[in-house]
Amino acid sequence: MSELIFDKSRSGRRCTAIPKCGLDEAAIPPEFKRSEKASLPEVAEVDLTRHYVNLSRKAYGVDNGFYPLGSCTMKYNPKVDEDAAELRGFNDIHPLQPSYTVQGALYAMDTLTKYLCEITGMDALTLQPAAGAHGEFTALSLIKAYLLDHGETKRDKLIVPDSAHGTNPASAAMCGFTVINVPSTPEGLVDIELLKNAVGDDTAALMLTNPNTAGKFDINIKEIADIIHGAGGLLYYDGANLNAVMGIVRPGDMGFDAVHLNLHKTFATPHGGGGPGSGPVGCKSILAPYLPGYTVKKDADGKFVFDRAEKTIGMMRSFYGNFLVCIKALSYIMTLGAEGIREAAENAVLNANYLMEKLKDTYDVPFKGTCMHEFVMCLEGLKKETGITASDVAKELIDMGIHPPTMYFPLIVHEALMLEPTETESRETLDNAVEALKKIYVMAHETPDILKAAPKTTPIGRPDETTAVRHPVLRA
Ligand SMILES: *Cc1c(COP(=O)(O)O)cnc(C)c1O
Repeated sequence: MSELIFDKSRSGRRCTAIPKCGLDEAAIPPEFKRSEKASLPEVAEVDLTRHYVNLSRKAYGVDNGFYPLGSCTMKYNPKVDEDAAELRGFNDIHPLQPSYTVQGALYAMDTLTKYLCEITGMDALTLQPAAGAHGEFTALSLIKAYLLDHGETKRDKLIVPDSAHGTNPASAAMCGFTVINVPSTPEGLVDIELLKNAVGDDTAALMLTNPNTAGKFDINIKEIADIIHGAGGLLYYDGANLNAVMGIVRPGDMGFDAVHLNLHKTFATPHGGGGPGSGPVGCKSILAPYLPGYTVKKDADGKFVFDRAEKTIGMMRSFYGNFLVCIKALSYIMTLGAEGIREAAENAVLNANYLMEKLKDTYDVPFKGTCMHEFVMCLEGLKKETGITASDVAKELIDMGIHPPTMYFPLIVHEALMLEPTETESRETLDNAVEALKKIYVMAHETPDILKAAPKTTPIGRPDETTAVRHPVLRA
């Protein structure tokens, strides 16, 4: 275990030496004074720098190497987008500044809103939500407000396919809906017959991501939309998987009424580590009167001003959303352009299919045929043969310098490993991962003990995963 910065502390060591100012100390009333000195580490600048640089080397991110974490779109984020977010005109402003002093920032918000509406095929959009799940909750709140406003008080059921991301049923429950689960077909698509049985006059909406978390595009989407709309419900699109289809198809054209996007997956903000993120929600005009918070519009004089929707559901968070994340998304969209956005999606799908094709003769890929941006492998057979689990494979990948894929998700596949390479990875990187995974397959049969002992290259190896999440011990 490495030393903490507190262990390196030596009384009197400093990073700076400030000259005495020569004035009398101001008298601070005793009630505002500490009774004991704050316990702060005292270290020299060089030790401080080394401490944090060495810690940062133990972290692993997209800037270190391959990170095929399925459902998370851990793609490389161009640095030019960070540069845009660092511009003083975006960075050194305050949310309480009068709008006439921040016209550029409002113009940026308005432009991003329009681009995201265009990309999703929606009529209106809010930039307020701070994450994907927060966007889901926002969109479901819009749907709820709409239904109540139209006297549809009995519509309290939300239909969620069993391949959904875990946040979907959670958001539905938080919004006060009852979740109706619809099982998938063996191909990983929505089972139309079971869907027909599930809808009724109590259906509020369907929550769907397309492509879904199995990496499959549901080609029956028009029929699905007709079934839901025919029963008087609405359609909500979980757009966290938009990386596979942006610039190619639009949720609005598929029949969806509302959508959230994960700017911290698809649009140039790193994902993970607790944020900041952004989950804008777009909607068709029927839901626009309920949009939360502040939106931007142009007044009669052509100046940008903040606006609130007529029947707004209220604020979903403070102020205007994670503004700088929005700037990165705007920069990303503007640097790629319409063609670049489409090309990114095409390459994401191409890379996932390349990886799947190279691996499918070694590992079992349960959902056959072309995948979208990600695919799932099932290691149940390997576990039966060798005792090696999906988790063991993931741990050995760490020793090989590759971040593990998503494990044990989606829940409909046992011993699942879910890989999403993204468009930014080169053929060499993908070939290297194929080689690593094939080597691990051989090791599972020949030297399983090595896999059971992995990882050996990390500060800690195999914590109790549940306890590590629920009660993390972050100090030695
Ligand atoms: C990541 C993800 C979400 C949730 O997004 P957060 O920003 O993590 O809340 C929802 N749905 C799908 C399909 C996702 O991949």
